[in-house]
Amino acid sequence: MNEYDSDRIINSLSAHPVKEPSDADIIIVNTCAIREKADHKAVSAVGKYKKLKIKNPDLIIGMAGCVAQLYGKKLIKQIPHLDFVIGPREIPKLRDLIFDIKEGSGHRRINTSMDIEEVFKVSPYHEAGKVNGFVSIQQGCNKKCAYCIVPTVRGNEINRSLKEILEESRLLINQGAKELTYIGQTVNSWKYEGEKFYNLLNHLQELDGLERIRFTTSFPRDVTSKMVDSMRNNSKVCRQLHLPVQSGSNRVLKQMNRAYSIEWYRDSINRLRDAMPDLSLSTDIIVGFGDESNEDFDETMKLIEDVKFDTVYSFKYSIRPGTPGETMSSHIDDDIALDRLHRLQSRQREISLENNLKQLNKSYKVLIENASRNNPKELFGRTSQNKAIYIKDLNKKYIGKIVDITKIEAFQNSFIGEPT
Ligand code: SF4
Repeated sequence: MNEYDSDRIINSLSAHPVKEPSDADIIIVNTCAIREKADHKAVSAVGKYKKLKIKNPDLIIGMAGCVAQLYGKKLIKQIPHLDFVIGPREIPKLRDLIFDIKEGSGHRRINTSMDIEEVFKVSPYHEAGKVNGFVSIQQGCNKKCAYCIVPTVRGNEINRSLKEILEESRLLINQGAKELTYIGQTVNSWKYEGEKFYNLLNHLQELDGLERIRFTTSFPRDVTSKMVDSMRNNSKVCRQLHLPVQSGSNRVLKQMNRAYSIEWYRDSINRLRDAMPDLSLSTDIIVGFGDESNEDFDETMKLIEDVKFDTVYSFKYSIRPGTPGETMSSHIDDDIALDRLHRLQSRQREISLENNLKQLNKSYKVLIENASRNNPKELFGRTSQNKAIYIKDLNKKYIGKIVDITKIEAFQNSFIGEPT
């Protein structure tokens, strides 16, 4: 979501990104508030640019994103060289804001209104020839999970119209995109004027020039049978699903206000795998929420053992201001939470590698994205299951094409392959 917003920021200014901050006329730090560490990082990132502002007083420095939304006025008070803060919903107003500052209004600006009519107005910048892109179909979230700051900083759920989604998709396809990832906080709860998410997938399937469709992040409770059928029946929909579970324990899920039981989650996984045996699954897990007991954590470990996710994004619970989790009476000891996190991550690393080793010497359809950054003689691509693969002995003319590749070496997060 932040990557997408950064691209919208660039496009809204018709700007050309420079490589070095010292070459920039405007520096905007786009921020994430999902965890305490990320929000500290954001503030220190802005601090780094103080010297540049002293050298060049015309330099405009701003902070965008969820940290800007959360602490708006406080940031302006705390950081004297910060010219403006702008929340995610106000990006369409960024251009006017910059002109206002440039014209010497002298005001430092705080643009953090949630009450913006055309939240989707600005499309993202798309680098010429880039094979993949993002399309936002939803802003905000109505779910109110006890640990989560998203509803506070991004507001209630607003769904984008089908017309606009298709228009932005065509725009990106015309600029060279072959694979689009449709994004929203609970993307599969999208609905608009009688259309539901499963219908949306049918419409996207019809887009000429689009080869692959991905979407993220899905909410478990909104995985319906119609959605599963639509994923299976639409050939462009990739065999990949990110389905955050957060905990394997019903007691913790209830405290988290996740609105599903672990039995529901497991049943959804079974339905998905029955329909698409080659589906790759990833999830998010928060360790140490509330008074998570050893038994609760064991249930989470049992879940990853049983499901064998390809990837688990796991974090130690981080208290966020203004969330119900902040006022919970019991929090477990930090060291215990950290120990659990390490145990979970260590076992998951083994599972990810075991899963990948099973795919060796098999051929997969790979969309070639670009030359590898580390080794320009190799190309980089992804399978439908979103597995990263570095390919030897393949001509650059295949960038943007889907090619049959045999996996010849497996690592925890990637493969080496060669043309089949
Ligand atoms: S569904 Fe996701 S974005 Fe929405 S409140 Fe829960 S964790 Fe946050």
